[in-house]
Amino acid sequence: MLIAAYQGIDGAHSDVALRAHFRDRGVTVETLGLPAFRDVAVAVLSGRARYGLLPLENSIAGTFRDGYDLIARYELRPVREIVWRMQHRLLGIRGAELSKIRVIEAHPSVLEECGRFLAALSGARAVPALDTGLSARQVAERNDPTLAAIAPPEAGERYGLVELAENVADHPDNFTRFLLVESPRACEPTPPDRGARRTSVLFTTRHESGALTRSLIALAEAGINLSKLESRPRPGRPWEYLFYADLDSDLHDARAQKALEVMRAETSELRVLGSYDVAGAAPTLEPTPRVTPSETASCPIPELPASSKNWPKAARTHCPAGTRVPVRDVEIGGDAFVVIAGPCSVESRDQVLATAEAVRARGAALLRGGAFKPRTNPYAFQGLGWEGVHLLGEAGRLTGMPTVSEVMSVDQVEAMSRAVDVLQIGARNMQNFDLLRAVGRTSTPVLLKRGMSASLDELLAAAEYVLSEGNPHVILCERGIRTFETATRNTLDLSAVPVLRERTHLPILVDPSHGVGVRRWIRPLARAAKAVGAHGIIVEVHPNPAEAKSDADQALTFDDFAVIMADLDAIPPFGA
Ligand code: PEP
Ligand code: MN
Repeated sequence: MLIAAYQGIDGAHSDVALRAHFRDRGVTVETLGLPAFRDVAVAVLSGRARYGLLPLENSIAGTFRDGYDLIARYELRPVREIVWRMQHRLLGIRGAELSKIRVIEAHPSVLEECGRFLAALSGARAVPALDTGLSARQVAERNDPTLAAIAPPEAGERYGLVELAENVADHPDNFTRFLLVESPRACEPTPPDRGARRTSVLFTTRHESGALTRSLIALAEAGINLSKLESRPRPGRPWEYLFYADLDSDLHDARAQKALEVMRAETSELRVLGSYDVAGAAPTLEPTPRVTPSETASCPIPELPASSKNWPKAARTHCPAGTRVPVRDVEIGGDAFVVIAGPCSVESRDQVLATAEAVRARGAALLRGGAFKPRTNPYAFQGLGWEGVHLLGEAGRLTGMPTVSEVMSVDQVEAMSRAVDVLQIGARNMQNFDLLRAVGRTSTPVLLKRGMSASLDELLAAAEYVLSEGNPHVILCERGIRTFETATRNTLDLSAVPVLRERTHLPILVDPSHGVGVRRWIRPLARAAKAVGAHGIIVEVHPNPAEAKSDADQALTFDDFAVIMADLDAIPPFGA
């Protein structure tokens, strides 16, 4: 079944618009409502949804910056514009009367679009709601005749509400322009319809007189209509402006290419978001060109072992091109080798902040730090608990790094998934199936460490537990296994990397710190991890290893870490 993601819950405008769009094309679709626009982008990138719907602008309230920014940030591929007439109805429970309504719930932009109607209603207070569908559902659930929601008629039907007033928007012509987007790595890119095309770009002009005019003249000379031009402040750069422009042309058109070349010279930054079908374009009659898996796979898939039937969603065949897990601005499983660094345990504000700053300055992409520590000895330091989670979050925010921390029990999962960017499942919990299912019910990426005596088959079956609950963001981690060898803390099984790359589409990290347990042996194994094809490493770093409250023998100093980073730079990317 084709899955299309949107922000909100059943009955939201985006949900209704998506269903109508695919119904008109005779395509069966399952819509997937998610809490935030960013979740929509992530669902598309991870393959959880084939398409995502992001709003670009409303004809009354204006541009939705989030939509443009997410497309730019995640390089989502725009497919088609969907223009949706927003029908705002005032909905209440059966028996409710307009004159007796005291509270009206609606999405903030809907409240903005209905300002005049609301101002004329004396005695009713407008309350912003997170989502259109949610506002309708809440009115139904509370079953209170003094409550109403502003939502589309479909939401009324969905939640059994009645219409107390029709078309309550300030203007009857109230449209939202959405973009249907797909992953830039979609195995079968959606072919364009045969109708008109539009291209969206974001740009900043140089501070030179005439720079904007010359860009616009280039478009005029190419005979390209500009259907939108808007400037907005650039977040984080006071008094600099970003232009949002829509060109009525396709990127492949020679005239558009020429005009964009001129624009590139006149602008300090130009981002082309892509070309897409203009709303209302006639559907193509030609069949979708099929791309065979061998053209998209990053490596051929040899036959999988018979046991792969136990982990169908983890198997490489499920996503031959490989999964990339987005963690804020970082991607794990992509072309870049990702380094996660930080203390074994968060011990104090100074300790975690100093480490965060040091590893950030030396090139780490993510910050690790345990707050709930699974210790063999019950009297050993057990971690700072929630205080540690809080300190890690603060260090992550101050240094701009996403965070990773271990979650040890089911009851910690919900709060931890809000507090950190990646949930670590420790080696000792790799087969804690309740915990795996619980993290599987979140949408937070999971770093799953291989159990100390777990086979690769068992590791993949554990990953399947998480995937089977709907969370596609699983990152595997080889951290050493128990063997007869006692010279090292564990035996780092680097042969796991090529085997896993062949058998699964999930990214694979290596943890040389727990693998060897001795500071000076981490450096060669970090190099080996990159050479053998891992997508990154996770290492422990401490401002003063001798004083570390856990895993002191394997803690790297800041200088050790710098040497390792320089070493890694010298190793060519895997496959190059
Ligand atoms: C850790 O990362 O600090 C840790 C406890 O790791 P593992 O679960 O691999 O022992
Ligand atoms: Mn540790």
